[in-house]
Amino acid sequence: MDKVLCSVIVPMYNEEEVITETYQRLTTVMDSIGENYEIIFINDGSRDNTRAIISEFCRNNDKIKMIDFARNFGHQIAITAGMDYAAGECMVIIDGDLQDPPELIPDMIKIWRDGYEVVYGKRKSRKGETFFKKITAKVYYRILRTLTNVDIPVDTGDFRLIDRKVCEALKQLPERSRYVRGLMSWVGFKQIAIEFERNERFAGETKYPLKKMLKLAMDGIMSFSYKPLKLASYIGAILSGISFLYLIFVLFQKLFFPEAAQSGWTSLIAVSLFFNGIILLMLGIIGEYIGRIYEEAKGRPLYIIRELKNMEKRVGPRYNTNQNANPE
Ligand code: UDP
Ligand code: MG
Repeated sequence: MDKVLCSVIVPMYNEEEVITETYQRLTTVMDSIGENYEIIFINDGSRDNTRAIISEFCRNNDKIKMIDFARNFGHQIAITAGMDYAAGECMVIIDGDLQDPPELIPDMIKIWRDGYEVVYGKRKSRKGETFFKKITAKVYYRILRTLTNVDIPVDTGDFRLIDRKVCEALKQLPERSRYVRGLMSWVGFKQIAIEFERNERFAGETKYPLKKMLKLAMDGIMSFSYKPLKLASYIGAILSGISFLYLIFVLFQKLFFPEAAQSGWTSLIAVSLFFNGIILLMLGIIGEYIGRIYEEAKGRPLYIIRELKNMEKRVGPRYNTNQNANPE
């Protein structure tokens, strides 16, 4: 088989309305480059016709490949599976809803040929997204930057080209709560941004409801920082200081103005509620970390594949088929 220059990795979850257009635009762009390529669609447990449509593409074109998940494992896991199976010298990760323009891929490949190992898309503008999403994204990326030591660039998503070397490095990171763009910054390599206008979704609606967004946001912070845990000690220290001062005040009152000291019910209940709130919050933060430790300790595979189209099954722990076999 010919060497594959570029693998395009496209996660798809209930995208029947856009998938044909995505297929056409991607194949047009990739054909224009004049090199061998493959497009890997990951069907992330879609409930609509996405799977049937991708199967049809695979039947007509052997450059199109499918990884069909046994259920919905989530966007980040889908990308990971794509990278596990990609054969290219370089690979491009792109959303299936055409918010990331496929027409940028030839430029990315040019920059890659100049010697850069990661070419990431930086969003100059975000069209067709709600004010709420834009503002939360902006604030979030800045919080993430202050909390973590890893240099995660602001306003970038998963749309990027990576070199084979970067992919091999990522495969060595076994963690389950995967925040792929963070892991990519963590592994390092020579990175460069390419600016683009983020378009509106071609059709359909977002597959990232608030709940999934929150999980991704938490994964980003929790996987790269333990500063939230330190918060408990800081808040604890400050509150103990304040409480001590208040204690002196209360004792003073009791000694010199005993009648005023009787009427302390309101302050008592206020202090008790406040401290209980803080304690529960801190327990919650600790719980988040323990939950993640538990996930890792179970050591389950990242994803389960129902079937592969136009691709060989791989064996080894990363591909969760045979735990005892060696990875290639
Ligand atoms: N996606 C996925 N699994 C999911 C959610 C989303 O594979 O559980 C895919 C989706 O099909 C799309 C990409 O991830 O190709 C980005 O999702 P979406 O466009 O809905 O996110 P948004 O752009 O609204 O943040
Ligand atoms: Mg989108």
